[in-house]
Amino acid sequence: MTTALAMWHRQCLFHWFAVMDSGLAAEFIIGPAERPGPLAAPRNDECAWEDSTMKMRSFQVCQCGAPLQMNEQEAPTPQGTQVLLKMLAAGVCHSDLHIWDGYYEIGGGKKLMLADRGIKLPLTMGHENVGEVVAVGPDAKGVKAGDVRLVNPWMGCGECKVCRRGEENLCLKPQNVGVFSQGGYATHMLVPSHRHLFDIGKLTPQQAAPLACSGVTAYSALKKVEATLRDEPVVIIGAGGVGLMGVTLARKMGAKDVIIVDIDAGKRDAAMKAGATAAVDGGAADAAAQIQKATGGGAWAVIDFVGSSQTVSLAVASITKGGSIVVVGLFGGDVTVPTPYLPLRAMSLRGSYVGSQTDIAELLELVNRTGMPGVPIRTRPLEDVNAALNDLRAGKITGRVVLTPAA
Ligand SMILES: [Zn+2]
Ligand SMILES: [Zn+2]
Repeated sequence: MTTALAMWHRQCLFHWFAVMDSGLAAEFIIGPAERPGPLAAPRNDECAWEDSTMKMRSFQVCQCGAPLQMNEQEAPTPQGTQVLLKMLAAGVCHSDLHIWDGYYEIGGGKKLMLADRGIKLPLTMGHENVGEVVAVGPDAKGVKAGDVRLVNPWMGCGECKVCRRGEENLCLKPQNVGVFSQGGYATHMLVPSHRHLFDIGKLTPQQAAPLACSGVTAYSALKKVEATLRDEPVVIIGAGGVGLMGVTLARKMGAKDVIIVDIDAGKRDAAMKAGATAAVDGGAADAAAQIQKATGGGAWAVIDFVGSSQTVSLAVASITKGGSIVVVGLFGGDVTVPTPYLPLRAMSLRGSYVGSQTDIAELLELVNRTGMPGVPIRTRPLEDVNAALNDLRAGKITGRVVLTPAA
């Protein structure tokens, strides 16, 4: 037990909803380094669907880490508020690799194991989905056959107070698509309710799909520092995929100065091309002093898309009086913050986890109005899903791969 997060879990029995590097939610427990029993390989017959009408094809994780298997079944008939989509685009997210493996590396040889709490195999992954409505349940409202919609994958129970105010991403009974419920690596997808569907406007399905994960994760984090975003520099730590999305969205949201912090010179360059106005080497011994200088005396807002001991400590050392730190990344680690800092520096240290229903709607409006973030998108056929995941694991993919079923 080396991390504070592990201690939380064991002592408080809280479930930790982990935000992976791309913002995907999953529920983890700390476990031994081996794969857990609950996610061990299912019997083969669990993946053998008997129905052979071949109306719906799904590519499923039937065994952790093993190639996804194509299964066929009759496309379901939507009931109640359900909506059946014909898939048009499904983004391949880095966090799918962790779901596929059944664990998440947190460094130091430790692993966070996916618990079996609601995560059942076979599982159709894919949480960045856009589809065309083909059938609606009798109680579904606001959508009709032919509508093209983005699915908000961060679903809750739909009944608790948190869900009713639109913050389903914070529900204690998550139903997240592609994690706790069947996702979009398929020809069709059954969405539980019309309320999770959003008009993509003039965006193409391929453009809109990645907004459901990396886009809304970055947007929701930036919203938490909106009070100073236009008037003060915002510091973004980590220029990976979500961090770059954060840089471009910060500019679209009105930030004049965006300071990127990364230990990798190439990634700092990429962030400068994406709209950052200054760059700091996060590995430099005087990184905090550099950030304080670049921000004119200390940062009002730091978004940490890495979330390691080093990056959060750097953020704490870099803010000015009244400054805010928002941690998004899940590299893992722990920090010690002198408690007098909190009142004496009037500082805020908080986390941000994917995004709410409102965040998704606002993000779509923002991107429709100001243009797509400059993240390269490559389209591949759905049948290539295993190759796409392997390419992602091998680091061969720049930007986003979006899968599209054959027409
Ligand atoms: Zn994701
Ligand atoms: Zn709920």
